[in-house]
Amino acid sequence: EQTAELVSRLLRDIPDFPEPGVLFKDITPLVADGPALAQVCEALAAPYRDAGITTVVGLEARGFIFGTAVALALGAGFVPVRKAGKLPGATVSLDYALEYGTARVEVHEDCVTPGERVLVVDDVLATGGTAAAAAELLEQVGAEVVAIEVVVELAALAGRSRLEGREVGALLTV
Ligand code: IMP
Repeated sequence: EQTAELVSRLLRDIPDFPEPGVLFKDITPLVADGPALAQVCEALAAPYRDAGITTVVGLEARGFIFGTAVALALGAGFVPVRKAGKLPGATVSLDYALEYGTARVEVHEDCVTPGERVLVVDDVLATGGTAAAAAELLEQVGAEVVAIEVVVELAALAGRSRLEGREVGALLTV
């Protein structure tokens, strides 16, 4: 089975989560299926086998699941981008706009050494705000952001336009 088909089959649509009017794409059935999880993580890693990636960055929280597996597949380290107030060490943070209000993402200020080549991984690309903020934050601490990769891209929310000039990969675009 092709990876896009596999992802499509195992994604679950949850209406009105986390608030009324939102159709949430739930990846938990996909990660609960062993062969599917392996195929998806392999497909995320494959395009970057020879890209000199030293660090995979996962976005809280579901990006940790896929990001760690991709890091192992690439022989790279893993760095978490977290929501405000979760990291214990000295951090740098960035605020970004949500549809209503703002959010803040953080990394440890010493999470990469300058020039490290990072791949940013998450489950879903929606408006692109989270991924854009994460990429900017990593550049602030000296990383080179090679690409942003997601399992599912929600095309209607135009996340790619917020990531213009960046390489963006998705296993499935809906
Ligand atoms: P964005 O910043 O609007 O692109 O939202 C992306 C962030 O919100 C990612 O970290 C996703 O995990 C999460 N997200 C947004 N929509 C969904 C969804 O439908 N399913 C799962 N996660 C979502």
